[in-house]
Amino acid sequence: MLKKDYLKEWDKEYFWHPFTQMKVYREEENLIVERGEGVYVYDINGNRYLDGVASLWCNVHGHNHPKLNRALIEQVGKIAHFTTLGASNVPAVVFAKNLVEITPPKLTKVFYSEDGAEAMEIAIKIAYHYWHNKGEKKAKFVTLSEAYHGDTIGSVSVGGINIFHEKYKPLLFDVYKLPSPYLEAVRKAGREKALEYDTTKILIEEVEDFIFHNHQDIAAFVLEAGVQGAAGILPFPKGYLKEIRRICDEYNILMIVDEVATGFGRSGYMFACEKEGVEPDIMALGKGITGGYLPLAATIVTEEIFNAFLGEFGEAKHFYHGHTYTGNPLACSVAIANLEVFDEEQTLKKLQPKIELLEERLEEFWSLKHVGDVRQYGFMAGIQLVKDKEKNEPFPYGERTGFKVARMMMDKGVWVRPLGDVMVIMPPLVISEKELEYLLDVMFESIKALENI
Ligand code: PMP
Repeated sequence: MLKKDYLKEWDKEYFWHPFTQMKVYREEENLIVERGEGVYVYDINGNRYLDGVASLWCNVHGHNHPKLNRALIEQVGKIAHFTTLGASNVPAVVFAKNLVEITPPKLTKVFYSEDGAEAMEIAIKIAYHYWHNKGEKKAKFVTLSEAYHGDTIGSVSVGGINIFHEKYKPLLFDVYKLPSPYLEAVRKAGREKALEYDTTKILIEEVEDFIFHNHQDIAAFVLEAGVQGAAGILPFPKGYLKEIRRICDEYNILMIVDEVATGFGRSGYMFACEKEGVEPDIMALGKGITGGYLPLAATIVTEEIFNAFLGEFGEAKHFYHGHTYTGNPLACSVAIANLEVFDEEQTLKKLQPKIELLEERLEEFWSLKHVGDVRQYGFMAGIQLVKDKEKNEPFPYGERTGFKVARMMMDKGVWVRPLGDVMVIMPPLVISEKELEYLLDVMFESIKALENI
């Protein structure tokens, strides 16, 4: 049997894929990647695909980047792993310092983990434990409808995407849930004015009223950093994040900002918080932290939070949390190189015209019969497919319309993974303007082709 054939067979026989209906997957022809180069990946048949979603939103400088490769190879020749429980390793120390230097000044201490969900899980536990150590009974979290913070039970508890989360309800802890800023803004002010500051003022009045009546037992306000990504790229209206900061300050509530998707350039800034000059008390990072190479995540906190965990050993105030691979040296050495590439290749500077180009080109999509909304936040975009534009009627869930469009795009050499019927555009930041144009051309044509189905 040819290698490509037995790999396909084994993939279906042994491998349970995440967020995948395996019955359907096993009936279909699937992409099995063998290698990557820049913004392209190559499958086991030798076909080339433009990676339109940056390998699930994490690739920054392209696949197989020489500098990131070198960092990994050099480190593996020294040591692949050593625990950080009561000990340390060189790349983890250096990268912690790097992170503190580039994140908002209030954030001074880094707690490592491996994935975005863990970074959020840790953020939640730290916030709860912080108030406990201070002798205050504040144990409730304010969360947003349509939020996504990962798939562990804690991060699902603070999440709000019904189709992913409702099945686990009996396992989750109780939270306060406020409306999704974008969806509420559209409801209140209409799509045209949804993102304006005046709309924020309306939304914030309600948020503030809620917090005024409930603040005593609230440990933290948990939210993504400016856009609800997994909900379908739903941007916050202008000033929303800043207003939440103000409210948290006023009512003595910690602000946990999830920068897992937006961090490391995706927003057009290194961190989305910078856009509105917001400094959270706790920030979660993941995805692009290693340029998309290795599982690494970090929860970064203020000095004040860190200090609340200090004490004599017998006081048992310290943070009882840690994973086997926490602060892995391979991941941290690539993460250090990732930041160096940001500098050397002027990644953020070169990104700005591409964000503008994306904005210009997205305009065209409004003309399509099956496009109901077009949303952009920095270098990420979502195009909402609808069956009937006038009635804003979705396609039936089981029809997998987004998937159909993605399959058509695959035939033209572009790989994307839609969020239901939202077509996501999230290529590596390093993509060229020409490649971006190609991605958008292919997406446009493929959505248009729905008109003939
Ligand atoms: N938070 C946000 C905002 C995310 O978008 C994601 C992943 N899409 C996560 C957390 C979870 O990260 P991970 O998949 O690495 O656990």
